[in-house]
Amino acid sequence: MINIALIAHDGKKPEMVSFVVKNKRFLDGTTIYATGTTGGHIEKEGFNVVRLLSGPVGGDAQIAAKLAEGTIDVVIFFRDPLDKHPHEPDVQMLMRLCDVHNIPLATNPKSAYYILKGIKHALEEQKDK
Ligand code: PGA
Repeated sequence: MINIALIAHDGKKPEMVSFVVKNKRFLDGTTIYATGTTGGHIEKEGFNVVRLLSGPVGGDAQIAAKLAEGTIDVVIFFRDPLDKHPHEPDVQMLMRLCDVHNIPLATNPKSAYYILKGIKHALEEQKDK
């Protein structure tokens, strides 16, 4: 079972919604964790989501803590590079911990697509062995 964290800054929430809808086949069978507002948008598309706090009040930090504990396998974080964010220190901490714990991190839809496709492929290979 793969646990995926999904986060999108406000300017990127529409991109996140269209990403999950387009890539439903990769997300079925995974457990989705998401920051509060992002998670609400994803739930509206029919996915089950473990919703954490909203990013600016600690949601990114919760995801960082979970990945440090080994609960999260992949992070998809559509950051908005054209806006300022009050919780930038939490964002940096989350990305740093991805590198500390060797967790795949995608910050845009194309890299997220290749990561999910790669994971599916790896799981299928394992099954065949
Ligand atoms: P949100 O948080 O999903 O609650 O908006 C995302 C973020 O800005 O980190």
